[in-house]
Amino acid sequence: MEKEVRVRFAPSPTGGLHIGGVRTILYNYLFAKQNNGKFILRIEDTDQSRFVPGAEEYILNCLKWCGLTPDEGVNFGGNYGPYRQSERKKIYRQYAEQLVAQGYAYYAFDTPVDLENKRNAIPNFQYSHATRMHMRNSMTIPHEAAEALVREGAPHVIRIKIPEHENVYFNDLIRGDVAFDTNQVDDKVLLKADGMPTYHLAVVVDDYLMKISHVFRGEEWLPSAPVHILLWKYLGWETDMPQWVHLPLILKPDGKGKLSKRDGERLGFPVFATEWIDPKTLEKAIGYKETGFLPQALNNLLALLGWNDSTEQEIFTMQEMIDKFSLDRVHKGGAKFDWDKAKWFNAEWIKKLTSNELFPYVTEVLEAKNIYPDKEYLATIIDLVKERCVFLTDFYEQSFFFFTTPHSYDMDALKSKWTDEKALFFNDLISEFKQSENWDALDIENIFKNLASAKAIKVGELMLPFRVMLVGGKFGPQVFLIAQSIGKQETMDRIVKALETIKL
Ligand code: GLU
Repeated sequence: MEKEVRVRFAPSPTGGLHIGGVRTILYNYLFAKQNNGKFILRIEDTDQSRFVPGAEEYILNCLKWCGLTPDEGVNFGGNYGPYRQSERKKIYRQYAEQLVAQGYAYYAFDTPVDLENKRNAIPNFQYSHATRMHMRNSMTIPHEAAEALVREGAPHVIRIKIPEHENVYFNDLIRGDVAFDTNQVDDKVLLKADGMPTYHLAVVVDDYLMKISHVFRGEEWLPSAPVHILLWKYLGWETDMPQWVHLPLILKPDGKGKLSKRDGERLGFPVFATEWIDPKTLEKAIGYKETGFLPQALNNLLALLGWNDSTEQEIFTMQEMIDKFSLDRVHKGGAKFDWDKAKWFNAEWIKKLTSNELFPYVTEVLEAKNIYPDKEYLATIIDLVKERCVFLTDFYEQSFFFFTTPHSYDMDALKSKWTDEKALFFNDLISEFKQSENWDALDIENIFKNLASAKAIKVGELMLPFRVMLVGGKFGPQVFLIAQSIGKQETMDRIVKALETIKL
């Protein structure tokens, strides 16, 4: 029987969620859905020194906003819990002890000061096959003495004993066959002095106990893979080992290194999914959400940063991505981040969604500016302006004048080449409008043009002032459509108000 597909996202909740992390979540999610599998959220919070209040809740909110809902995990339940590693503390020690008993790991009693001294004395010091016999551990002191120290509660850690002169081979579904020389790998700590496991032990134990079938994670974890593979082997679980999927990095726009939070600050674009405020420094990093991205656009652009379906298609719905995603089309090399392209995806997605689908997002943008529009009216306005919006926040600039009278006018545009004749035109235009029975854009345009030709004024000279009268500046969709939307009385009132302002 085929093994059930069970994949996990396993963040350490220490700060903002980088878009590389969102892409890992997305690929996990697509793969799980495509294979009728399960997508699991496990919180890796065993490093208490890195505890950041609010960071876990933040991740849950990011997942919610992205629409990438786990099937199991912290906050989602499931049969393999608890899914928060700090609540699994009791589970790990027995495995570390088992490794010691079998000679695959050892107790180390070196104090932080001992280690500091070594680091100062030996450049690039590593606790490894080369140095372990000069340290204070259960291989250099008599067995009974070591056991006694442990029994008496002397501070100690458990380290993996990495073998010398071996190669660790494994297959990565993106990279193919990978080999690591164990002489390059250090004796990682598995269990810390506070009894908590390190990432290396906890990740292997939990992937095993949670029956994970595929490990999707960023390429930065590749150097840890040999340690994990040895642990799978030493713990006797080799036949259950998951398949490895190390995803390519998202690179800086110039391709030189991994995209970092600082690049975003330097170049003016978000790197986190949603806004992250560091609780210690109160430093704020803006997110895609707050910049006015649709989650559909972020998911779509991230899917394509590292994958394509071999055609020219770039806009994919979630269902299309689930159907078409395949690991053999994930690139090995890093993908350069392109902010203009990211904006393009968002603009396309804004165009693609119906006014109904955009409604909640646009309402939020407008309500933040104290505009509370009628639902039906807003739907027609969304359709009128969505082509002009790159960010959801643009809906305000592009549409506020449909809901509120302009407070100020671009006077230069309004008064340029202004004449008494034009003032008269707009006065008469009000009378014409008053008499008109119909009020759609075409009628308004006809009245406008007929009056202009009756007065022998070029229509082109009147359009800009008309626009400024209605919206306050040189922006907005077709001006007769604006007049139609705001209604006859409001159009006339705005002309009157603008004419008074010109006189001042
Ligand atoms: N806790 C690790 C992280 O913060 C998980 C790495 C993995 O998926 O193995 O990314």
